Order: sequence, then C-alpha cells, then structure tokens
Amino acid sequence: MTEENENISSYLPTPKNGWILVFDLDNTIVGDYSDQRSIDAEEPSLNPSVVEILRKATEARERAIVSGIFLLTNNADYFFAKVIELTLAMKFKKHRYKVVFDYIMARNHPFRSPPDDDPPKSLREVEYMAKESGISTENLANRVIFIDDRATHEIAKEIPKEHYIVITPPFVRGGDDRTDFHFLEALLEPKKGGRQRRTTRKRLQTFPLKRKKSKKQKSNTSR
Ligand SMILES: [Mg+2]
Repeated sequence: MTEENENISSYLPTPKNGWILVFDLDNTIVGDYSDQRSIDAEEPSLNPSVVEILRKATEARERAIVSGIFLLTNNADYFFAKVIELTLAMKFKKHRYKVVFDYIMARNHPFRSPPDDDPPKSLREVEYMAKESGISTENLANRVIFIDDRATHEIAKEIPKEHYIVITPPFVRGGDDRTDFHFLEALLEPKKGGRQRRTTRKRLQTFPLKRKKSKKQKSNTSR
C-alpha cells in the first residue's frame, strides 16, 4: 500500500453492508464504442487500469469489503456487455470470478427511463440492481462508487463528490488513462487488523451518525 493510500484508508472504513461499485462500459472499460468493431477486432480494447480496478474489486468482494459490482451502460447491446464480462473473467483466471458483474443493466433495460438514446444514470437504477441482486440498499448513496467517462450523470448530485470517478480522458483503443484512482484503490485495500475499529470510532466522533434524514437532506449531504 502506498503512503497516500494508507492515509485515505485510515479514515475510510468500509461502510456497513460494503461498497457498491458501478461501472460504465464504453470509454471506461472498453475503448471502442461501436459494438461490432470491438467484436470484429482481434480482441476488445480493454482499459488496463480499469481492468486492474475490477480485479481488485472482485477480490474485495470476496472479503465483503465490496458487496456489489454493477455494469450500468447506455450501450443497448447486452450481449456485447456479456462478451466483455467473459473476457474479463478469463483474464482474472479464477473460476470463482466467472461472474464479474452482479448485475448488467443496458440502455434498453425495461427499468431505464425515459427510453431514449442517452437515459440518465442515477441512484434509482443502482437501487434497482441492488434489490434484484439481494444486496442491501441501506445508506445507499454513501456506499456507491460510480466510475464513468462522463462527469455529468444525474448520480453526481446524489452521491458524495469523491465517489464519482471520471475516466480521464475517455478511454479509447491505444489511449492512456490518467484517472486518479487513489481513492478507489485505497478503499479496496485489505484493512489491517485493529485499524478499522479504531478509525471507525474516530470517524464517528467527527461525524456522528444522524437518525433518519429526509430525502432532500440526504441528497445535500456531502463529505
Ligand atoms: Mg462511457
């Protein structure tokens, strides 16, 4: 663990019920937008840094630090998303990670609304996927980490600012990725024994838990 990650990790205890990671597909995990182009190519142009994050995320799910990994895409091709998932699973070379994503929601999923080319991505879709996957939705906004090459999705207004990770620049085949993943990497790190309890206590002193807030207050909450 780098020193910087250790610092973040020390004030960022895993929330009750674990983190939920929500990934975009095009220009985030894979470089070519066109579905057919990517399948025709020798192999899909995967973004190496996001692949590494996904590998760590699947491992963190084994340790219950992460409770859900979702793919929320405005690509309408569910089959393409499954091909990418299987490609990732083979890369990870661990049979128990056959399923990388707990849920894949494409643009044409019946729950997406309005049914247009670019439906918003919001907490509403994440909540749906969590429920469908049997994952708790308690304190949802504070448990979601959203990874997308676009900074303007509706969910930006619903989750803490540092939980919205923008792929910079949008990933393209052969391009580089200068995204700052320190925050995400730190929360996926295995916690050292004893550390978490101590820091949780410290954090609770600084930010005492408040009882039920109204929806409006919740959306205004930031850390
Ligand atoms: Mg995208």
